[in-house]
Amino acid sequence: HAKRDGRGLFRFFEQSMDEELRRRAELESALKKAVAAGDIHPFYQPLVDLRDNRVYGFEVLSRWTDEKLGAIPPDVFIPLAEQIGVIADLTWSVVRRACRETLQWGAQVRLSVNVSPMQLKDPLLASRLLATLEEEKFPPSRLDVEITESALIDDVDTARATLAALQAEGMRISLDDFGAGYSSLYHLRAFHFDKVKIDRSFVLAMQHDEESGRIVDAILSLLKHLGVTTVAEGIETAQVLRRLAENGCEIGQGFYFGKATPIAEASKLLRRRRADRRVA
Ligand code: C2E
Ligand code: MG
Ligand code: MG
Ligand code: MG
Repeated sequence: HAKRDGRGLFRFFEQSMDEELRRRAELESALKKAVAAGDIHPFYQPLVDLRDNRVYGFEVLSRWTDEKLGAIPPDVFIPLAEQIGVIADLTWSVVRRACRETLQWGAQVRLSVNVSPMQLKDPLLASRLLATLEEEKFPPSRLDVEITESALIDDVDTARATLAALQAEGMRISLDDFGAGYSSLYHLRAFHFDKVKIDRSFVLAMQHDEESGRIVDAILSLLKHLGVTTVAEGIETAQVLRRLAENGCEIGQGFYFGKATPIAEASKLLRRRRADRRVA
């Protein structure tokens, strides 16, 4: 009996592995097609200057809904795009569209784009990005580039040269997801960031965990000593917002202000907040 049971169990695992592989292959080919067809869309989440309550800009976040597979979150399709070698195509198509769609917002509204760790190894990244902006007539000085910590680890020299080249054109560089990686302090010293975004896991935890609140207070103070602009992502409540602002956090992002939306809704939010300011 034991033998038969074991065999049955093994067959069960075999089948679920087949199923898993089949699903992955399906997802991969759907993603390749979606990137090629321009079916990955830019959504826009507001960043608010906590000192004067103005919209600082918007972060571009990619969204993908497949006809058959439904909505796939970026935490799934971005790593997959990196693995199958389509992340650069995805980035260029989303950045190009975002520049085109937001050009009319004007010089005061900045656009923040995520660049994959893998792309930082490309010595042509800076010139490619500049060429895309030029084609779209989008001023580089309106663009922020967000880089997650893992991005920087392998090839420090190439990454440093790329970031410096972008900064020389007026772009601002943000270190994304600060605190989530394992060598944060090393990266702060190795690169000159204009902004640092405190990882949303800390900011979300502030809602119910005093220790996370104290860690964020300390991070803000550290960053201020280094002279970098501080950004907190994952602000969902007025209490968390108040504590961050009181501790000198300069820019905020989170569902409290708004989720990532298509261009039409983002433009509406911008108009509404501008109108509010005129009344106030
Ligand atoms: P990220 O760059 O750290 O982007 C912020 C993420 O936090 C977004 O998740 C956003 O929806 C989420 N978020 C913002 N405020 C709140 C909040 O108040 N509460 C909660 N629970 N979440 C909040 P999203 O859009 O799912 O993106 C996940 C990650 O995928 C991004 O993290 C980024 O690393 C990556 N990603 C998304 N689009 C792109 C892209 O076009 N290119 C690259 N390379 N990466 C992208
Ligand atoms: Mg980001
Ligand atoms: Mg982040
Ligand atoms: Mg991230």
